[in-house]
Amino acid sequence: MGKEEIEKRSREIMKILGKDKNFSEDFKIELFGNRYILLSTTYFPYELMKDMEELFGGVGDFVLYRGGKRVGRKLVRKYKKYVKDESLGIYDVISAVGWYFGWALGERIKEGENYRMILYDSFEAESYMKNEGKSDKPVCHFMRGVLAGIVEEAEGSKYEGKELKCMVQGYNYCEFLIEKV
Ligand SMILES: [Zn+2]
Repeated sequence: MGKEEIEKRSREIMKILGKDKNFSEDFKIELFGNRYILLSTTYFPYELMKDMEELFGGVGDFVLYRGGKRVGRKLVRKYKKYVKDESLGIYDVISAVGWYFGWALGERIKEGENYRMILYDSFEAESYMKNEGKSDKPVCHFMRGVLAGIVEEAEGSKYEGKELKCMVQGYNYCEFLIEKV
């Protein structure tokens, strides 16, 4: 059909479906100077995780974790300009953004040099549950990386993350320990 045709057709379909206030005139989602795409938790990250697992086993979890860490570090660099003072720190800004974009609702508890993080409605856990239901092992490898990356960049030291409890195990939230190494 060609790019222009597909674009034109998509625009027409969107006009039929109706315009949402979150869409710009050309129906692209642009927030904080970035273009966003929407991916259903039915597909993402479940299908990616599944393929990684089949191809690489436990190494696949590690790749998702590492990728998450890169994202977490980048989030801090991007959003630190919105930090005002003690009343609105980097963790508050990122937590609000994380909720707004539908990743999870996060809470942070400082324990010495470490952080205990609680995530409600982790999209990663939801994606797994939609496809497979419960699991005996935690599955939020990407989000575990994101949290570790956020703390690493915010604190300026090396941190690693463990998921202690996951919604897929029947808990009401996911709990992570982000430890200084
Ligand atoms: Zn989880």
